Amino acid sequence: MKITSVDINLYRIPLPKVLTDSTHGTMKDFALITVEVFCGKSISGLGYTYTVSSIGGRSVYDLAVEDLAPLLLGQDPFYTEKLWDEMYWHLHFVGRGGLASFAIAAVDIALWDLKAKYSNLPLHNLLGGTTDRVKAYAGAIDLDLSIDELLKQTEGFLKEGFKAIKTKIGHEDHDHDLNRVKALRKEVGPDIVLMADANMRWNVPQTIYMSDALEEFDLFWLEEPIIPDDIEGHIKISNKSRIPIATGENLHSLYEFQKLIASGAIDFPEPDVATLGGITPWMKVASLAEAYNLPVTSHGVHDLHVHLLAAVPNHSYLEVHGFGIEPFLKQTLRLQDGYAMIPDCIGHGVEFDRNSLSKHMLGESNI
Ligand SMILES: [Mg+2]
Repeated sequence: MKITSVDINLYRIPLPKVLTDSTHGTMKDFALITVEVFCGKSISGLGYTYTVSSIGGRSVYDLAVEDLAPLLLGQDPFYTEKLWDEMYWHLHFVGRGGLASFAIAAVDIALWDLKAKYSNLPLHNLLGGTTDRVKAYAGAIDLDLSIDELLKQTEGFLKEGFKAIKTKIGHEDHDHDLNRVKALRKEVGPDIVLMADANMRWNVPQTIYMSDALEEFDLFWLEEPIIPDDIEGHIKISNKSRIPIATGENLHSLYEFQKLIASGAIDFPEPDVATLGGITPWMKVASLAEAYNLPVTSHGVHDLHVHLLAAVPNHSYLEVHGFGIEPFLKQTLRLQDGYAMIPDCIGHGVEFDRNSLSKHMLGESNI
């Protein structure tokens, strides 16, 4: 089997409603970069990645078009480790994470999809397979919502069957954050799992102060209180905070995860397959977490992560957030009683409606 061609597309997709968090501010759109790898006309695999507010989207697209796709032609698509290694080293001098990991991710996901389709297996079975469903939480991007709006949103999540909800914090005024979490806990009662995400807005003393103040609200985890680069800071927080810490959506390589996990200072590693370099390194982060007796969770792209979490024994919650991609998917994630169900599919099962995407297209290449 040989790779004969690669299609790469770039889209800028407006969000159905403006989203806000403490770091990215107001988000009105996102970039979607799709990569389809073909072996002749009979079989192909689909991968994709995204950027927030479309920042860097065209650069990721260019890396895939100019540097990665030509490297793939004529190669055996089933050598996923070899191809990942070649892509990583091809971009090493300008990469070692960052934008390069986004571009490699889109290609690597396509290769795994192709391998699963050829094997006639759903992706989670090809990767291992432990379950047909994983616990899911509603990951709201809601920092600008008033408390009334927050509670109304929560009502909607509960109606959808969610038994776990995450809210954004990281407002300049700590009391503002505390009032939000307090109102949320009061609304949902003691049996719903709650998480809170500060999107790296704090320093170490602020985190320790807020961790103490938030303790009475029984948070399942506190996410990204500080920048992930500050490992010493994480160790200090871990020594003081009684709330478990989740982080990882801003880490873009296995090595970055290794440093944080080995520090013993994080409780929920949170890799994002679309920004970490794809399925190949995501599975390694999950295994690394397992070796440290830690669960693994996910960030974004729930249609892919449902397979990856279901493939590994140490899976924790799947983050579900509608980042505006749903209107363009032929099949969306099915929730049942607080669980996300593995779709009945071969490969990862994600298919885009290219017709409805076409009006948002900024670039297309066939290599
Ligand atoms: Mg987050």
